[in-house]
Amino acid sequence: MYADVAVCLPLWRTFLYSVPEPLPTATRVEIPFGTRQIQGFVVGARAEPPEDMDPDTIRPVTGVLDPAPLIRPDIFRLCRWIADYYAAPLGEVLKSALPPNITARHVAAFDGGTTAPAEIRPRVDLTPAQAAALETIRARDGFHPVLLHGVTGSGKTEIYMRAIEECRAHGRTALVLVPEIGLTPQVRERFAARFGPQMALIHSALKPRQRIDEWLRIYNRRAPIVIGTRSALFAPLEDLGVIIVDEEHESSYKQDDLPRYNARDSAVMRAKMSGAPVVLGSATPSMETFRNAETGRYAYVHLPDRVEARTLPDVTIVNMREEYVRQGRQAVFSDRLLTGIRDRVDRGEQSIVLLNRRGYSMFLLCRRCGHSFHCRDCSVSMTYHRKTRRLLCHYCGHWQRPRDACPDCGSEYIQYVGEGTEQLEQLLNDLLPDARVARVDRDTMRHLRDFDRVFGEFRKGALDILVGTQMVAKGHDFPKVTLVGVVSADAALGLPDFRAAERTFQLLTQVAGRSGRGDVPGEVVIQSYFPDHYAFQLAARQRFEDFYRREAHFRRVMFYPPFTSLAGIMVLETSRERAARLARKIADFLDAERPGPVRILGPAPAPLEKLNKTYRHQLLVKSAAREPLHALLGRLRRFLEDTKAPPGRVIIDVDPMTLM
Ligand SMILES: [Zn+2]
Ligand SMILES: [Zn+2]
Repeated sequence: MYADVAVCLPLWRTFLYSVPEPLPTATRVEIPFGTRQIQGFVVGARAEPPEDMDPDTIRPVTGVLDPAPLIRPDIFRLCRWIADYYAAPLGEVLKSALPPNITARHVAAFDGGTTAPAEIRPRVDLTPAQAAALETIRARDGFHPVLLHGVTGSGKTEIYMRAIEECRAHGRTALVLVPEIGLTPQVRERFAARFGPQMALIHSALKPRQRIDEWLRIYNRRAPIVIGTRSALFAPLEDLGVIIVDEEHESSYKQDDLPRYNARDSAVMRAKMSGAPVVLGSATPSMETFRNAETGRYAYVHLPDRVEARTLPDVTIVNMREEYVRQGRQAVFSDRLLTGIRDRVDRGEQSIVLLNRRGYSMFLLCRRCGHSFHCRDCSVSMTYHRKTRRLLCHYCGHWQRPRDACPDCGSEYIQYVGEGTEQLEQLLNDLLPDARVARVDRDTMRHLRDFDRVFGEFRKGALDILVGTQMVAKGHDFPKVTLVGVVSADAALGLPDFRAAERTFQLLTQVAGRSGRGDVPGEVVIQSYFPDHYAFQLAARQRFEDFYRREAHFRRVMFYPPFTSLAGIMVLETSRERAARLARKIADFLDAERPGPVRILGPAPAPLEKLNKTYRHQLLVKSAAREPLHALLGRLRRFLEDTKAPPGRVIIDVDPMTLM
């Protein structure tokens, strides 16, 4: 007997091994591969080897790792779809469907006791809009996707929880996906308070052993409700009754490593395979999802009002060019924002200040010769971190000590340019010595407990001001926040990325939604050098649909999603010449093979040409229809295998989130 094995390596094809007896699909096995022993998954069986293969060259499987496959047939089917759709190696997809390092011993030793029944708690009444939304979700049996478009503070979470309760009442299970950043203490607490021990939590801050334990509780039907980030998509729930994807627009649903799948779109596919409704919730739906609602593929529910009739905050856009003239210098804070923060401190209210840039100074510049300090391994400038006294590359982590003199010309006029969150925190401490300030960014928030502590103190009122990157923008509910300031709203707009305006609009709308969630109306101050940009103007007025139309026009004429299917192909090489050569070779192949409606752009160096000592050249494949694009990518995979390009040298990214 023979088994087709998908290996856990970045390889698309499968390999044939002999087995003493047939093994069920998805069985984990250990196999010799070259001179190594590696893991793989059985994905097919055959009685005879193919004719062009000498049976003596086929090596035997050396170990069967699980007595029965841990991946159930429905999850296997989902993995297979992901591998096909995202041009991802099947072995890598199957591997990511299981907790790392789970063994048969863990599975055999599981003793999770019984599931305590959920307590029935008194619940708030739904508003008519919430009730109508729930009605749409349960409108019919079987698969149906629903976009729940609710402004910040409109009570989406309550709708999710009701939908889960109803599906539990019918004995079915529920899966809730949240973005990485969305797993704040509050979200966890709200769900835990309602569903308690019935719930399993899966997120990246879990230790490996905790992750295995949570997975086993689900596998053994002790946790019928799963809440988790991206990889929870593969939770082994049976008889799914509903899938919820909260903050569906978040780019963290797309894995930017192998396998490159989008958990939101894969969740829609899982719902389809399970015959369950799927709810995509957001205050700022992605262009793709709103387009699906517009064309009727998804049902659409709109919650335009905040609960308890709270008003949306009052938004001001400050023109920083005028501010420069008025203050006679490049100011970090406009008068309006600083006065606003000061007033809030005096009144015992709270402020959130957003700057999507960590560190102290964005970069260092020699004022005499213009030398800037770049990472030796990446084509980006290094960011100055004052507390640790480091120039740090935010892409690869390489760091060095800042120097007092320019290495090129010896000049001592080194200018520190562009402020980051670390500098904002210090400025606020200097300007408002009585205010209690905390910073929220990747440097200060290393563990889940850091979030718990800072957000807990802020909610208690033990802090006046939170300064931070986009981590402060998402999902939190702080009733005493009456002012949100965005220091440099332009930061994301300049990026060479077709989603730049969409991201900016989403971030501003989300952060504005943090203001005025209590009884006092909120205010938002956005600082920009381009105050007329439509992303600012429309975010200020929370005009989602106007933004969508404006942006849709741009995407349509420029042939970008959601009107065009897109795939990025990135070549990674050790030198610029090699990268250019391989990219050219791929471009020539694609040009010769492409069907008429498919367009090829490039090859060209990626905007971030060098990353981690690797040179990156890219191509874009665009197609009005999806099928020709996928067919072409299939041929490309075979071409790359035939040319024996080493594993991982060429990255195929279907539906990319960024083009960097
Ligand atoms: Zn110099
Ligand atoms: Zn670097």
